[in-house]
Amino acid sequence: MMSLITRFAPSPTGELHLGSAYSAWTGWHRAHEAGGTFLVRIEDIDIRRCKRQFEMAILADLQWLGFTWDGEVRRQSDHFADYGKVLDALDAQGLIYPCFCSRADIAASVGAPHGPLPGPDGPLYPGTCRTLPLQERRERLRAGREHCLRLDAGRAAAQAGPYRFFDEVRGWIEGEPQLLGDVVIARKDTPTSYHLSVVVDDQLQGITLVTRGEDVLASTHVHGLLQKLLGYDQPRYAHHRLLTDAAGRRFAKRDRDMTIRAMRESGMTPRQVVDAAIRAAAEA
Ligand code: GLU
Repeated sequence: MMSLITRFAPSPTGELHLGSAYSAWTGWHRAHEAGGTFLVRIEDIDIRRCKRQFEMAILADLQWLGFTWDGEVRRQSDHFADYGKVLDALDAQGLIYPCFCSRADIAASVGAPHGPLPGPDGPLYPGTCRTLPLQERRERLRAGREHCLRLDAGRAAAQAGPYRFFDEVRGWIEGEPQLLGDVVIARKDTPTSYHLSVVVDDQLQGITLVTRGEDVLASTHVHGLLQKLLGYDQPRYAHHRLLTDAAGRRFAKRDRDMTIRAMRESGMTPRQVVDAAIRAAAEA
């Protein structure tokens, strides 16, 4: 039987809190009980928001909780070249295009007669730059206009054909390639995006089971599409419920009293923190 490889992939934009500790526990626990491998990956492509000090704190918290990982931690910002190669492969297939729209341009198109369609995470990008005349596109690129790169989801869908992915809680899910529209595949400020780097890294690290919060379930439709286009192996998924506080609100990095550090400083033991996370997940 293939050995199980899971991962925890935090973005170091704040300290570990009970919700993210639960996510880490699911990956660690699944690997641990199966005698598999548990990896940690730091998803720090957003170089403005991610901080080394948070990365250190998260790793220290994981160690304190007893979620020891195998091998070296992979830090995404050290691997931009890996994502660049895959970006080139998608470009060669004619599946990406430069988008010069600002946030304000996109916001202005909301509510317009042919404005964006609603998506699970807000309005979808209306595709303005997808239909930009080639000449205009070239001129803007030559003039050095700031841009991101987007996936042409329609073309990508046609090329990939049907696909599905397996979620341990929900069963087989038919891929909806256009669910999030023409997603950003490389940001203006970073030569990759969450979708691209997570798919590349799950492949490079041989991940067989992705455990993560159900807030990214819609993104998994995009990841399945990219995996199919790139001929990657597809991991299984287990999207778990998100932990909420007594008022039913999701734990977030802003809830300082719910950080693992605050719990440790209040005298709780690692076991008590893990039990609290498991209990909160059962109640969510
Ligand atoms: N870096 C993402 C986060 O912190 C991880 C999502 C995933 O595990 O794919 O939400």
